[in-house]
Amino acid sequence: NRENFLRAERLHVMSELSASVSHEIRNPLTVTKGFLQLLSVSRTIKDEDKAYIEYSLQELIRAENILNDYLAFAKPQSENMVHSDLKEEMEYVKNVLMPFAVFNNVEIDYQFTNSLKKDYDQNQMKQCLINIMKNSIEAMKDDGGTLSIKVMEQGKNIIISIQDNGVGMTNDEIRQLGKPYYSTKKEGTGLGMLMVYGTISKIKGKIDVQSRTGEGTTFTITIPT
Ligand code: ADP
Ligand code: MG
Repeated sequence: NRENFLRAERLHVMSELSASVSHEIRNPLTVTKGFLQLLSVSRTIKDEDKAYIEYSLQELIRAENILNDYLAFAKPQSENMVHSDLKEEMEYVKNVLMPFAVFNNVEIDYQFTNSLKKDYDQNQMKQCLINIMKNSIEAMKDDGGTLSIKVMEQGKNIIISIQDNGVGMTNDEIRQLGKPYYSTKKEGTGLGMLMVYGTISKIKGKIDVQSRTGEGTTFTITIPT
């Protein structure tokens, strides 16, 4: 339909754009980091002032992480597609997010069948699942709740369902998902869902979003095996 078409088109433009942008930005970041590292060992700079250099270095690293986490997917040829087990990626992501969930009073309920083999890029898949589940946890952070993850095989498809009982979204908000920089959060990047749609469409998967404000959201990802 038209919505999916527009989304695919946006994705295409964005991935072309971000591939070159992330490459162009990485260079000045690296140069700046190098000079700051030189300054940090300078003997003419006071220790108090070195703290500022340290903060600057930390922030540069954070910027690099954003490039790595969100824009790395944009390089079309650098994917490392490997026949892997989705169950392992899911388990990895669940463990990585456990402390974040606990901190936000969110319980993780996890249901699995067995191993689910498929060709995909393991790092991208991890990042993609992290981006979805992190959003779900963030949607519940005020009152806590349950993040319910189910993975099953249904005929020739792998179905991943990620459900939260958080703030939910209006239909209009659902339509904005995957739009670059669309975020309703104070410190949001608005790049997480863009990455999610990119990764899933690369492996010919589909994402269905069911949501109700004040009730919660369910993402259902269908991936052909
Ligand atoms: P960010 O998390 O940095 O805001 P994302 O691209 O990950 O950017 O998400 C974009 C927006 O989509 C979020 O700001 C939020 O408004 C909405 N969203 C995504 N997932 C959920 C969810 N599970 N529940 C409610 N809103 C969500
Ligand atoms: Mg996010």
